[in-house]
Amino acid sequence: MATAPAIDRADTRPDMSDAEWKARQELAACYRIFDHLGWTESIYNHITVKLPDEPGAFLINPFGLLFSEVTASNLVKVDIDGNVLDGSDYPVNRAGFVQHAVFHRNLPDAHAIIHTHTTATMAVCATEAGLLPTNFYACNFIGRIAYHDFEGVTVRDEEGERLLKNLGDKRILMLRNHGPVVMGMTLPIAFVQYWALQRACEIQLATLSMGAPIHVSQEVIDVHQRDIFMAQASAEPGRADFDAWVRRIDKIDSSWRE
Ligand SMILES: [Zn+2]
Repeated sequence: MATAPAIDRADTRPDMSDAEWKARQELAACYRIFDHLGWTESIYNHITVKLPDEPGAFLINPFGLLFSEVTASNLVKVDIDGNVLDGSDYPVNRAGFVQHAVFHRNLPDAHAIIHTHTTATMAVCATEAGLLPTNFYACNFIGRIAYHDFEGVTVRDEEGERLLKNLGDKRILMLRNHGPVVMGMTLPIAFVQYWALQRACEIQLATLSMGAPIHVSQEVIDVHQRDIFMAQASAEPGRADFDAWVRRIDKIDSSWRE
């Protein structure tokens, strides 16, 4: 299927490598997809990716802009200590930086990280039981999610140790009374995981408003998690989903490519 032509990096930002420009475009697209799907929180929340050709550097959204205003060029490149590397005039949200930096710094496989405050995910994070094994999407995640108790807004470096300890070998952290953090080895993986988690939480919210839910047995959850990979549309996990949504947002406004 046709997509809008890629904007040539050399024409717009000759100071950037091809790898950086590609990472910027993919991340900017992801912000616009989140905007289109309504997974936004005013000028807050973050999706970050590591730069593949620059160890210790990652891209984050400029603080003060809506997700719908993010473009490849205005994403801010920061190092792991919070220094802006690309001369951007935009500030970076400290809460977003501190939280994402602790994972980017300590987990080599956490290439892409998504944190949101959507109503459904925050509501599930605000319940003692957390995500329940009561719907198809939730069964993807049972046993694969970690929880971290609320300590106030995540601006203190010293919380990092406890965030990592509570995360353990999981790559999805439900911040209690706050919201989820989803990490992936690629942005499409983090995206598709987040999409399923968002749906799981929306359905849990609807289910609990209707009465007693049916709990899925561990035996069925094990079968579901063993077989779920067969339902993928592309060899690269999340790629077909991500590219499909890129085509959708291109039909609305392709300025994210700039
Ligand atoms: Zn937050």
